Amino acid sequence: DTRSDARISHLALDIGGTLAKLVYFSGNEKLLNDDRVQSSAEVGGRSSSILHGRLHFAKFETGKIDECVAFINSKELGSQHPKELGNGKIVKATGGGAFKFADLFKEKLDVCLDKEDEMDCLVAGANFLLKAVHQEAFTYIGGQKEFVQINQDDLYPFLLVNIGSGVSMIKVDGNGKFERVSGTSLGGGTFWGLGKLLTKCNSFDELLELSQQGNNRVVDMLVGDIYGGGDYNKIGLSSTAIASSFGKTVSANKVLENYRTEDLARSLLRMISNNIGQLAYLTALRFGLRRIFFGGFFIRGQCYTMDTISVAVHYWSKGDAQAMFMRHEGFLGALGAFMSYNK
Ligand code: ADP
Repeated sequence: DTRSDARISHLALDIGGTLAKLVYFSGNEKLLNDDRVQSSAEVGGRSSSILHGRLHFAKFETGKIDECVAFINSKELGSQHPKELGNGKIVKATGGGAFKFADLFKEKLDVCLDKEDEMDCLVAGANFLLKAVHQEAFTYIGGQKEFVQINQDDLYPFLLVNIGSGVSMIKVDGNGKFERVSGTSLGGGTFWGLGKLLTKCNSFDELLELSQQGNNRVVDMLVGDIYGGGDYNKIGLSSTAIASSFGKTVSANKVLENYRTEDLARSLLRMISNNIGQLAYLTALRFGLRRIFFGGFFIRGQCYTMDTISVAVHYWSKGDAQAMFMRHEGFLGALGAFMSYNK
């Protein structure tokens, strides 16, 4: 059966402000450990062996939701897929797009989006990954990635910081026990949006790539710039500490075109990551939490982003709190929606 690798037994969606995430399961027993199944997940670039079958991950730009619809259409929602009585198939969905695009999914795919709360899904997805998936969480310190095996009895409480278009900070105390305690609008959407305007980059990955070649010191005002090259010892600020992000761009004789796009991208990435790291630390401090897990597609496994966040958390907490990242960072909500079939 050449078409069976396209058959989906369960599908769930998380349609956010920027990206639509899909998690789907092809659980046909015949296909157990079959390589062809893996190849059907090329869009997301990742798949994991879980349960008896395969869980696939894919993402699309929310602005091109038609591509997402076409992708689902190219697959076959198998006969095991949950159905509404007398109606079309039900697909669990979370994120704002579950509301915004409900009519579109009904019209184009005869699929009824069954809405699940976004925070419920984020937490359920994170809890599942941290408990059930080997080598999910890791620290990133001094360029070294180190997986952390978390003792299940010692997982809670923790702070979950999801960096999507915007940022949510959630104090998690157990399964289904959580509170959204903070957040900031300076998130992934800010980096991507401002970055696009400043550099004219056409894709997020291009912007990230550019930022890797930049030097933020050309753009940021450092303590040393203010103190004539020296440290501000009395309060423990080194000459290389950033006093003001983008502070040098006030220079009277320079305009945007005089700056290298690499340096602007670097400075922007550093500003956003640093700020989120600092806010995460303050939020953790407010509730006495020592572990902070970062998720969301902004991170994108990017070394400089993770390093900046880790350094911020370490610096502000004087080593008391620890930043941890997750391998399936962008799919927490979609996984949570997927798991809600079992509720
Ligand atoms: P949301 O649910 O709000 O869409 P995500 O967790 O999907 O949030 O993260 C969206 C953010 O991820 C964007 O704001 C951007 O910073 C980053 N990002 C990573 N990859 C991409 C991409 N291919 N296209 C656009 N943004 C991306």
